[in-house]
Amino acid sequence: MKSVSRRSFVKNAGLGIGTVAMSPAFFSLEEMFSSMNGRYQGEKLNVALCGLGRYANILAKGLQASEFCQLTGIITGSPEKEVSWKEKYGIPSKNIYNYENFDEIRDNKDIDLVYVVLPNGMHKEFTIRAATASKHVIVEKPMANTAEECREMIAACKDAGVQLALGYRLHYEPNHLEIMRLGQEKVFGQVRLIEASLGFNMTGIDPGDWHLNKKLSGGGPLMNLGVYCIQSNRYVLGEEPVSVTAQFLPKIRPDLFVEVEEGITWQLNFPNGAVGTSTTTSTSSVDRFYAAADHGFFEMSPAISYGPFIGRSSSGPFDFPVINQQAAQLDGIGKYILENKKLPIHIAGEEGLKDMIVIEAIYKAAETGRKIVIK
Ligand code: NAD
Repeated sequence: MKSVSRRSFVKNAGLGIGTVAMSPAFFSLEEMFSSMNGRYQGEKLNVALCGLGRYANILAKGLQASEFCQLTGIITGSPEKEVSWKEKYGIPSKNIYNYENFDEIRDNKDIDLVYVVLPNGMHKEFTIRAATASKHVIVEKPMANTAEECREMIAACKDAGVQLALGYRLHYEPNHLEIMRLGQEKVFGQVRLIEASLGFNMTGIDPGDWHLNKKLSGGGPLMNLGVYCIQSNRYVLGEEPVSVTAQFLPKIRPDLFVEVEEGITWQLNFPNGAVGTSTTTSTSSVDRFYAAADHGFFEMSPAISYGPFIGRSSSGPFDFPVINQQAAQLDGIGKYILENKKLPIHIAGEEGLKDMIVIEAIYKAAETGRKIVIK
């Protein structure tokens, strides 16, 4: 492994120093401004996790490893979790909320930011309630169930004068920063073809799991996993797709996947002629990324899960440190908020909206069998 410490890597990534900051407009960091009152200077950002499921447990570990953020509060519907999290993380009773009294968080000066880790269909409500309570927000992917919900969330945060970030952990991960650089700086020439796929065999999923409930999930694996494939296409090319064709995969377990798709494959067309082909599925495990450029290639597998990632290019293997992805993300976002700087657009709410617009076009293409123009 390269002798780059997580701390120095994160510091550079959080400040936008390095390759990505030099890339084309897609990752421009120009829009920084001071909008807050500076009270966070030199302090850690106090974070409350909203929804204490599987991923919140991973984020809690990330918060422990974070340089700029710390866990100071929780919002949960389970009285048992109030007790176990209070003990495990030393959270004071006054910083523990449930979904009903959550709005009282407005008066709590020990919480600066609410991290929404609830099922997708609840993201909008809790993002807007947090913003209305004057708290900054990080919301997990996918940002919401629809693009319209994303717009409402962005507007609510803007109106409340708080910042809204997406929980896109790969934006801060060194292998992914490298593929952004290789693609956007055309190190091997123009990227012409991308293949990015992510799937998990969800045999044994509880029929009552929210991922199978359209109201709570917004859709099947396209919402939960495919969003990462869309992301990688967009940030490697540094462009927005202009049209898409898509096909649902046959359902292997139609008894379980009643309301949402079990798998879907799609083809994104980009303005420069590049094509991105992806599949996401709940029937089999796949976790890979491949980009073919004019004079070479780069690839990773595993590529999108929690890693560790294995990557290489035409020039040889990647050699980056394995980092705590959640800590890197929290630091990358927290640094801006602590310094009272506006989040760069590629890590803010607008980024989630862009992905949701593509997701809606993919569903429409699969449902109609037509090529859909993405506006
Ligand atoms: P989970 O089912 O493990 O946790 C969901 C939490 O929401 C639970 O604590 C549950 O009690 C609570 N909840 C409240 N109301 C609920 C309801 N009506 N139905 C179901 N649960 C309800 O889910 P998770 O895997 O932690 O996912 C939460 C969010 O995090 C999702 O948006 C998901 O896409 C995202 N996520 C992101 C990553 C990542 O790598 N960034 C990884 C996993 C999940």
